[in-house]
Amino acid sequence: NQGIGSWPARRARMTPERVALAYRGRHYTYRDLRERSYRLASALGVRRGDRVAFLGANQPALVETFFAAGLVGSVFVPLNARLARPELRFILDDAQPAVLVLGEEQDGEGLPGRHVRAGDYEDLLATGSPEPIDEPVSHGDVCLIMYTSGTTGRPKGAMLTHANLTWNTVNLLVDVPLAHDEVTLISAPLFHIAALAQTLVPTVLKGGTAILEPSFDVDRTFDLIESERVTVMFGVPSMFNLLTRSPRWAGADLSSLRHLLCGGAPVPEPLIRVYQDRGLTFLQGYGMTETAPGALFLGAEHSIAKAGSAGVPCFFSDVRLVAPDGSPAAPGTPGEVYVQGPNVTPGYWRRPEATAKALSADGWFRSGDIGVADEDGYVRISDRLTDVIISGGENVYPAEVESALYEHPAVAECAVIGVPDERWGEVGKALVVTRPGAAVSGDDLLKHLDGRLARFKIPKSLEFVSELPKNAAGKLLKAPLRKLYGGQS
Ligand code: ATP
Ligand code: MG
Repeated sequence: NQGIGSWPARRARMTPERVALAYRGRHYTYRDLRERSYRLASALGVRRGDRVAFLGANQPALVETFFAAGLVGSVFVPLNARLARPELRFILDDAQPAVLVLGEEQDGEGLPGRHVRAGDYEDLLATGSPEPIDEPVSHGDVCLIMYTSGTTGRPKGAMLTHANLTWNTVNLLVDVPLAHDEVTLISAPLFHIAALAQTLVPTVLKGGTAILEPSFDVDRTFDLIESERVTVMFGVPSMFNLLTRSPRWAGADLSSLRHLLCGGAPVPEPLIRVYQDRGLTFLQGYGMTETAPGALFLGAEHSIAKAGSAGVPCFFSDVRLVAPDGSPAAPGTPGEVYVQGPNVTPGYWRRPEATAKALSADGWFRSGDIGVADEDGYVRISDRLTDVIISGGENVYPAEVESALYEHPAVAECAVIGVPDERWGEVGKALVVTRPGAAVSGDDLLKHLDGRLARFKIPKSLEFVSELPKNAAGKLLKAPLRKLYGGQS
């Protein structure tokens, strides 16, 4: 077995006594993780190609189900525990798993198929065999179907192979020198690719300890950093920002931290500086589910000089920016981000058309994101292609308009979308949430943009709203806004 399912056993040969997983005061060594994944794989009775779904927050059963599936060539399908029942049913009907393992605090009511309830999980393990499993699994086999957040439409199942995850780990280790004794705090959800592939998988490969937290909590984070001497943390910028706003920030002992991994959005420069004052730098990156996920990487030494950018292509991957006419986008001009490399998905589960649209014959994956490279090749991710407004033949990039709006102190949150217009085809419309107590008019804000932006980029209308729609991952959703205001969805 060349696959990821064999990794706990490979590690257990070297360091059986080292703690692999820590969860709510319980510890599982590499020997435990090996045995428990053997037992689970045999007890579930699943085979090559079967899908094995898991519903729940971060916990040992999620990790064990992932490795157990990989041991027998089955495909792990982690489900977002924050989704509503109809959303889960949509994904389960699409994935057709042989079994759904339910995590703590989850009930399977209204969900199709065979279930393993959390209360029965340990009993099930006890019925399984601890004997080694040696199924032929190769690097090219699919080990994971991960549904994308659905920011731009219905979720699609991105298939990832053992090779995809292995190469992503190699890409990470080329630039992030993880040691054998890392203590990695995992409080971002493992049902998203970043936590799974950027923290859990590399930590297990190196034989370190993964501390599993069911959710992100500021006080718990400080407690664990100090008591467990955490060395690696992953988060989105807002998590790192929340830590700095805690009364515990100033007095916290952060001396154990070695690597702060941050992705999903650019880290604002002021936040980089607040951490730098404590001797800590961010390793930033850009990626997506379909690229397992790393595509661009920004090392600590460039985090200030190249703030706002997501870096250069990961070592074994290639990224190019493609202008609307298909030619290479010159530095300083926007283009769609394409990614090629051994970490790129072979396609979407049961979606040949979606696969053909996103993946070219020579293996370039179209990200649907707009990026701009500087003269040194550092790429800033600006927008989603679907969000670009085409007004009178000119492309308007909403992120540029939004960041100009954010320069006004009254703006707490905003979104710029395209709405139909007889004369221009499409024009921009701004939706703005103001800061509490701010007294500002729409005209004030449009005047604020005058001079900052070219005329054609300034929204033709502006509306104040009390909130903006977000998905379960906290990302702003523009499709429902466009629908609401009569644009294309
Ligand atoms: P869907 O594909 O279903 O619409 P999604 O693209 O939001 O959902 P993910 O694969 O979880 O699902 O997210 C990847 C996206 O997150 C990228 O395509 C990009 O838009 C955004 N992203 C990731 N990292 C960064 C970053 N460093 N800076 C800016 N945007 C980022
Ligand atoms: Mg996507």
